[in-house]
Amino acid sequence: MANVNLKNVTKVYPNGFKAVKSISLDVLDQEFVVLLGPSGCGKTTTLRMIAGLEEITEGTIEIGGKIVNDVEPKDRDIAMVFQNYALYPHMTVYENMAFGLKLRKFPKPEIDKRVKEAARILGIESLLDRKPKQLSGGQRQRVAVGRAIVRNPKVFLFDEPLSNLDAKLRVQMRAELKRLHKNLQATIIYVTHDQVEAMTMADKIVIMKDGIIQQIGDPYSVYFDP
Ligand code: ADP
Ligand code: ADP
Repeated sequence: MANVNLKNVTKVYPNGFKAVKSISLDVLDQEFVVLLGPSGCGKTTTLRMIAGLEEITEGTIEIGGKIVNDVEPKDRDIAMVFQNYALYPHMTVYENMAFGLKLRKFPKPEIDKRVKEAARILGIESLLDRKPKQLSGGQRQRVAVGRAIVRNPKVFLFDEPLSNLDAKLRVQMRAELKRLHKNLQATIIYVTHDQVEAMTMADKIVIMKDGIIQQIGDPYSVYFDP
């Protein structure tokens, strides 16, 4: 089970700024939850604490019932997809997707199998030998998702993954990510400031403002207060 539970989680940055103020949130196994709110309201900080990329100042985060506050990022059963794709420019698509598994000392045949399977799912099999700069925005975005998929995590964290794409591609990728969510049977926590994205993708929308959770509900019951 890959439910994610935040209990009274607070983040104070070293400069004293309180970016997240005692938030509590229960994400169910295989749920698609969208954190929605204006720039600066604490969405990314929350996601990075779940990922283990940011220290939790106060409170606890549980993944699958286990408190992860002190678990190393690489030992958490999660994968994060960044807004800027965070691809390594000098590596090919294949190498980018294989990197995290190599780091974790997976055997080569297993790496090969996983990379090719993820590439098939994402329709990027013909791009495996290219470098990131030889790819379109949408293709780069797929590679970034592929890097997460190969790890086979139970929880995916997405930080505004579509915001660098043009409007048409964004609509297409929304549908693709929804389909992917069904196929992978994973829990997804997805950050965006785009209401339409939240409305069309989420099982549950969490509206944040100034470091607190203002409202939680399904896409039809939440009230947007811009
Ligand atoms: P969002 O993802 O909703 O745009 P963030 O979580 O990135 O918001 O940021 C929340 C607030 O915390 C912002 O006001 C931002 O300027 C501040 N912040 C982010 N990172 C740091 C940091 N390393 N040090 C101090 N303040 C930060
Ligand atoms: P992985 O396949 O685990 O993502 P990476 O070497 O790409 O392997 O990343 C190692 C760690 O650094 C991971 O926890 C990943 O989420 C994080 N990471 C990767 N790229 C970035 C980035 N641009 N900014 C912040 N953290 C990153």
